[in-house]
Amino acid sequence: MPLLYTKNLRREFGGIIAVADVNFEVYKDSITGLIGPNGAGKTTLFNNITGLDFPTSGFVFFKGDDITELPAYKITRSGIARTFQNIRLFKEMTVFENVMIGRHFRSNNPVLAKNRPLNFLMGRLFTKQEEKDIYYNSLKWLDFFNLLDMRDEYSKNLPYGKQRELEIARALATEPELIFLDEPAAGMNPQETDQLMKTIKRIRDLGVTVVLIEHDMKLVMNICDTITVLNYGSKIAEGTPGQIQNNKDVIEAYLGKSDD
Ligand code: ATP
Repeated sequence: MPLLYTKNLRREFGGIIAVADVNFEVYKDSITGLIGPNGAGKTTLFNNITGLDFPTSGFVFFKGDDITELPAYKITRSGIARTFQNIRLFKEMTVFENVMIGRHFRSNNPVLAKNRPLNFLMGRLFTKQEEKDIYYNSLKWLDFFNLLDMRDEYSKNLPYGKQRELEIARALATEPELIFLDEPAAGMNPQETDQLMKTIKRIRDLGVTVVLIEHDMKLVMNICDTITVLNYGSKIAEGTPGQIQNNKDVIEAYLGKSDD
């Protein structure tokens, strides 16, 4: 069974069918690419899976549970993280603070939240433990991205490629099983993109399943195990990079002829 799948997911905006009854599948420990022309419905599909927007009809299942109606914060706690097309860092905060905030989203002790007297008695103890936990986990992710030296820098002062990595670090600090990356290579130079490809593989090797929207075909074809293609809201193909590159419908709608 897929780790996550959508069933006939549809999202209409007035007369526009942004996503048209799409069945999208993501398998554990894979890197899945979602591609298609501008306006094909890729970000809308991401938003409807991650609780930022809700489908007109259809379903989203994660680990066998129906998560269609869950708000974004509950989806994060269930083990799904995401980044955005436009970088959304806290610019006036340090690199370290940005990652710690990510960790905060995940850490909310459910027993204490439900039990007020226990919360009163044990709150301080748990808070101290949680603070430690947040601190060391954030350091772990900064280390993973080679950002330890820059931990006290304001995030706005980081080079563009590093800001993108910091956003991924913050998402990973929620300790997800599945991460959605919306155009992670956008605005990167070729060296930064090469570095990003290695980083995404390292993330997958940690046991975090990856889904990415990307227009950089070198990145998509090099690192994705499977690719789904949307066009005008509909899924027109899915398969391995080799199958997608040779698919007539995909070439016509998006990739163009080989000499283009
Ligand atoms: P891109 O590659 O340019 O980011 P995309 O494949 O992510 O494009 P979406 O942003 O999902 O495409 O948009 C799909 C369609 O839905 C477009 O026609 C877009 O104009 C429309 N759309 C998206 N969000 C809204 C909204 N909030 N209100 C109205 N229309 C919307």
